[in-house]
Amino acid sequence: MLDMDQLLKDYPEIKTMQEYKPLFWQNPDYQGKAELPFGIEHIFDAEARFQRFAPYFEVAFPETLPTHGILESPLVDLPKMKAVLNQKFAHKIEGNLYLKADNYLPISGSIKSRGGIYEVLKFAEKVAMEHGDLVYGDNYAILHEERYHKLFSNYGIAVGSTGNLGLSIGIVAQKLGFNTSVHMSADAAQWKKDKLRSKGVNVVEYNDNFSHAITEGRKQADADPSVYFIDDEGSYDLFLGYSVAAIRLQTQLKAQGIKVDKDHPLFVYLPAGVGGSPSGVAFGLKQVLGEHVHPVFAEPTHIPSVTLGMMTGLNDKISVYDAGIDGTTKADGLAVGRPSRIAGKIMKTLLLGTQTFDDQEMMKDVVRLYDSENIRLEPSAASGFTILDQVLGQLVSDFPLENASHIVWATGGSMVPKEDMLAYLKDGKAELNK
Ligand SMILES: *Cc1c(COP(=O)(O)O)cnc(C)c1O
Repeated sequence: MLDMDQLLKDYPEIKTMQEYKPLFWQNPDYQGKAELPFGIEHIFDAEARFQRFAPYFEVAFPETLPTHGILESPLVDLPKMKAVLNQKFAHKIEGNLYLKADNYLPISGSIKSRGGIYEVLKFAEKVAMEHGDLVYGDNYAILHEERYHKLFSNYGIAVGSTGNLGLSIGIVAQKLGFNTSVHMSADAAQWKKDKLRSKGVNVVEYNDNFSHAITEGRKQADADPSVYFIDDEGSYDLFLGYSVAAIRLQTQLKAQGIKVDKDHPLFVYLPAGVGGSPSGVAFGLKQVLGEHVHPVFAEPTHIPSVTLGMMTGLNDKISVYDAGIDGTTKADGLAVGRPSRIAGKIMKTLLLGTQTFDDQEMMKDVVRLYDSENIRLEPSAASGFTILDQVLGQLVSDFPLENASHIVWATGGSMVPKEDMLAYLKDGKAELNK
């Protein structure tokens, strides 16, 4: 049993969280020595698997033809957004502000096209090698043939999701031929469920939170040995799929002449739900770019699950509900009350800190980015902007910021239907006019 009274004595910041006030949590173990469960070779293994599947994507998802079957997003300079933010920031952004535009990733329009799709590919490759005749040197376009579709239809893939993970996994798994079930929490947007159903995915809806949906999904999948469950609360494959972003980003930084060294630190702002996608990316960045890249996570004040887990060291053993925090947010991608089993542990020495933010401030940033740069994000994905001012205030004494680069990781949004996008903009505009 958790002793909340003792925890409140040991970590007075929990009181701030209970009052829903924005909080910066500085990680006391940052840049310390640690044993990690994997290294850079695992990232390259995952990258190689994506490369093997590139010919499959070209035939099965022609929208990936321009990038030769590779799922990647652009790194976008945001001079106008920087100017807009600096007008109101107490701590001005020096150096450059960029968007890692995962909202434009093919297939799901979100960061889940990295981890979620990767785990489906890994499972499909295993089945195709063990029960079909696939070998590593094949052109994987053959996986789009009817005989493989038939083979895969003997297997199921299941997942619990607040929306985007289900979308990415559902679309690819169904296309390969797997029987696919997505267990959706109450927060999941209707259009995401509709889209999956239109593709023949079995969508199971719960009038409850994510922890409940994933537990039910896991239970049902465990009862059927032909079903493979993709576990957002603790999967190493998901994690490594996300980490591949670092190799790609390093190339983009070089191409755009963006230096990362002692005098040119790079700060990366990532929204955290269970903490899997931001941790996978942050782990990759630390392995590939080294000590001068500094990841920071963003979480809503009403559902700071990773912050609570890492601060107390309890990780997945504590949920925001245990602390009497209500867990409500407009950021559906972040509507997760209990963090992943692995993210906090791996991030122990790799994460600079976390910053919580107010939902309504996030809605304003959705509008600001749209108005200044004409880029559409879903609310979660704009939260990197929302935490910037406060984080800069914390960094200024410890880092040379004149030549720093700042990357806001935009985790999703390009597939949001027009009406939903208009509703987000209306909400944010009303807030700006207050
Ligand atoms: C999934 C998601 C996140 C957070 O990822 P976690 O792995 O749950 O931490 C953030 N933003 C969007 C849009 C997402 O879909």
